[in-house]
Amino acid sequence: MATIPESQHTTAAAIVRWYDSKPQEHRPHMGASLIGHACERSVWLTWRWAMTPEFSGRILRLFDTGKREEARILEELRGIGAQVWDVDPETGDQIRVSALNGHFSGSLDGIAKGLPEAPKSTAVLEFKTHSNKSFNDLVKKKVREGKPQHFDQMTVYMGLMDIDRALYIAVNKDTDDLYTEWVHLDTDRFAVLMARAERLVGMTEPPPRISDDAAYFVCKMCSFWKHCHNGLAAEANCRTCCHATPVENAAWQCAKHSKELTHADQLAGCNTHLMIPALVPYAEPVDGGENWVAYKHKANGIHFVNGPEGCADYGPVFSSKELHNCNGTLMADVIAVKNEIPGSKVASGTTNGPDHTTMWDDLATNPDDIPVKQDHPAKQEERKKIARTVKAMESFKK
Ligand code: SF4
Ligand code: SF4
Repeated sequence: MATIPESQHTTAAAIVRWYDSKPQEHRPHMGASLIGHACERSVWLTWRWAMTPEFSGRILRLFDTGKREEARILEELRGIGAQVWDVDPETGDQIRVSALNGHFSGSLDGIAKGLPEAPKSTAVLEFKTHSNKSFNDLVKKKVREGKPQHFDQMTVYMGLMDIDRALYIAVNKDTDDLYTEWVHLDTDRFAVLMARAERLVGMTEPPPRISDDAAYFVCKMCSFWKHCHNGLAAEANCRTCCHATPVENAAWQCAKHSKELTHADQLAGCNTHLMIPALVPYAEPVDGGENWVAYKHKANGIHFVNGPEGCADYGPVFSSKELHNCNGTLMADVIAVKNEIPGSKVASGTTNGPDHTTMWDDLATNPDDIPVKQDHPAKQEERKKIARTVKAMESFKK
């Protein structure tokens, strides 16, 4: 029997939508919390801003719950008589560690002294909330085996702070049970993690995939699944551009325009963006110049070019934004359309003017924006019909 869809006009749904509407941002640095991730490629792609995170409103609320729990645990530790520092006394900000010219970094939940098991020792504090299943697994296996990424995160904090122990405090979200475990610095593991971070910061293209199987469990939960397993090129920003290099003081330098890039510059990119070829997962680079790269599609052998300059030998030109907006499986059709349009095999814009868009960037995504000739009644009627259908579908979704 068909079920009636649940109403989306509830307060609960409105709260989740409020979280949904919050902008999701790229982290400026490679995070210590991620360095122990099972897939190195995911660490690199996160740091190079290959895709903006797309967490659902429900998950964002869950993250917020974890943040709020931190304040409560700090208060509780002070309540039992421990000395706790959760901000850097010099800056008033969260205590941070960083290395590798500032490109590898992390924020501690706190540092404490006077804890019951080791009153004279100073310890790094790390707090995590868990589902019932995850909590029970942790209690059974302990942090190193049960939550290796958390173990690695604490190892980096301890190593960079030169503190030999950490207190891991876990909260069961279902029962509010607490689990605490002392973790001691493993200097060998610290060296492995720092070497991993250094290698990743130095890489100009992503490491290989952890699995070629799109159904592999790590990939299925990963934000980069669409990129690694579903033919989506990376987003166009400075971190995905061939011309950008990480330099000292956590800064990024553009070789094309010979300038240091602010955070805002990096997010915006510019009209001379040239995609790192390995970030176009469905094609292989076959030729290139300073401002263009020619590709051959791995599945169908068709050629196309990315970059502000074209190369008529290799088919239509795509800006990096166009590449990101067009899934690899659609390339053959899009190229066929491009080939019908004069000028698609030449440079798609100026190389130093304001950010330009090319024709594919200009394609309307809303029926009301579809340009139609006013003297074409059939088209006008078709446009109205599409608009009516979309409106009907939108009201159905509410
Ligand atoms: S989708 Fe898989 S291979 Fe790609 S980054 Fe994520 S975990 Fe790694
Ligand atoms: S060429 Fe443009 S997009 Fe590339 S790094 Fe320089 S400013 Fe950024």
